[in-house]
Amino acid sequence: MSKTQKFGRVVLLGRPNAGKSTLLNQIIGQKISITSPRPQTTRKNTLALFVNSRGKIIFSDTPGIMHKVEDLISKKINLKTPKELNKADLVVLLIDISRQKGEEENKVIGLARNSPAKKILAYNKIDIAKGKKDHLPDYNFLEEEFDDVISISALKSTHVKSLIEKIFDLLPVKASVGIKKDIKLMESQKSPIPGQSSDTYISEIIREKAFLVLRKELPYTVSVEIKEVKDKGNIIVIKADILTTDKRYKKMIIGKKATTIKKIGQRARKELELVSQKKVYLDLTVISDPHWPERFV
Ligand code: GDP
Ligand code: MG
Repeated sequence: MSKTQKFGRVVLLGRPNAGKSTLLNQIIGQKISITSPRPQTTRKNTLALFVNSRGKIIFSDTPGIMHKVEDLISKKINLKTPKELNKADLVVLLIDISRQKGEEENKVIGLARNSPAKKILAYNKIDIAKGKKDHLPDYNFLEEEFDDVISISALKSTHVKSLIEKIFDLLPVKASVGIKKDIKLMESQKSPIPGQSSDTYISEIIREKAFLVLRKELPYTVSVEIKEVKDKGNIIVIKADILTTDKRYKKMIIGKKATTIKKIGQRARKELELVSQKKVYLDLTVISDPHWPERFV
């Protein structure tokens, strides 16, 4: 290890659907954070450790700040981001420039402004922001408040490497309190991905498949609880509950002749087999429980 190594906490900030999870997946190079065309699929903060010759970074992919805070879950999510921001050495404000600037953007801009950390303004989705869909000029006024500015496409991985370089350039030379301990802890965790328990990882994969299969029909209020993970050598047996708040949704998730739940199970199983390099037996049960959001922490 060279003397110039840097250690830092970096928060990805942006409204839901800005591309935070996509960016983090590109940076880490493997699937760690679920992405889908539906916003707000990242409900919990996802932490991921990035390591290269310049140092180590703990990234956190914040659940977006939701505009409407009617339900209990959204309220809890909205409380989470500012806490992350206080601990950050650097904030990357990710803007979807293919979309018109609205109140949600103003909210995250406000959060970034209030953070004492270093700041990078990252214009995302440059691959589709063309002609009338290019809203980059709406943000020019912000540039002087930021330590650096970059245009990227998280999806196509355009300029993502330069973004990482810029992050390392701006990280403080002196590591912040407790970060080395946190990194050690993440490195010691036995999980397909650093910073997450394997239960969380498995449940996020199942939840992602449910979102992808059901698309617009699925409400946010779906959670996955892992009941059992047994590694039997050549096969891993996983039992999990898909929890929803409503009988109507339960029916939808199961589908006619259980075709929908089978599709979800199949897709999740394939991905879990890929990650674990083992055969996976996945047993999914759909449960409707109006009270689960109260247990959500
Ligand atoms: P998050 O809510 O900020 O975590 O956003 P996601 O990472 O889940 O992305 C939301 C949607 O935008 C997904 O459908 C992504 O594939 C898409 N997306 C993210 N980055 C880009 C990009 O650079 N270009 C394009 N065309 N789509 C993107
Ligand atoms: Mg996300």
